[in-house]
Amino acid sequence: MSTLVSDGNMNNGSHVTTTRTKPNILITGTPGTGKTSTSKLIAEMTGMKHINCSELVKKNELSTEKNEEYDCLMLDEDALCDEIENDMDNGGNIIDFHSIDFFPERWFDLVLVLRTDNTILYDRLKNRNYNDKKLSENVECEIMQVVLEEAHNSYDKSIIYEVQSNTVDDMENNVEHVIEWLKNFQTPFINTRNSNNQ
Ligand code: ADP
Ligand code: MN
Repeated sequence: MSTLVSDGNMNNGSHVTTTRTKPNILITGTPGTGKTSTSKLIAEMTGMKHINCSELVKKNELSTEKNEEYDCLMLDEDALCDEIENDMDNGGNIIDFHSIDFFPERWFDLVLVLRTDNTILYDRLKNRNYNDKKLSENVECEIMQVVLEEAHNSYDKSIIYEVQSNTVDDMENNVEHVIEWLKNFQTPFINTRNSNNQ
């Protein structure tokens, strides 16, 4: 597993086109991999704002037409982006979502892709009372690395970290790494911004 400490190359300014002074972090992964638990823990430890997009979509009805086959509402991607845009421009947010290819690339400074072994994920989703179809689709999505691939197609590889999320120890490790990354992030980010603003 790669460490999250910056190697000093990731903030070279090429993709930073924002006035944010605080970073935004994307926590993603197949449903059940631990996005919400991990995001909550990071928010508690850092004071960053946890934005659970699934909850936000439900609460503010950010959906378009109903998909009959899956008996679920389709996400209105533009409405979700509009909803969080102000927060994202300010920085200091942890975005928790499984679908990530429609967010503006400039929003994120770190993308964490959580990975879970099939059998563990199966048990977690079973506990959530997912039906068989939804269960096998999600486990397959994890096996096929769908979210990881989406991350690689959407964001610079220098900011993407694929991490294990099988055990509580894994989660604590991931949270610790993010906190370390935040400490290392501040200085290069400010330098980058200064050089951009000259
Ligand atoms: P997601 O938000 O990705 O759907 P959750 O954070 O809701 O996932 O986690 C799903 C379930 O798995 C919860 O019951 C949670 O406690 C458990 N869980 C998540 N990550 C881990 C982990 N790394 N180790 C052990 N249990 C975990
Ligand atoms: Mn969740």
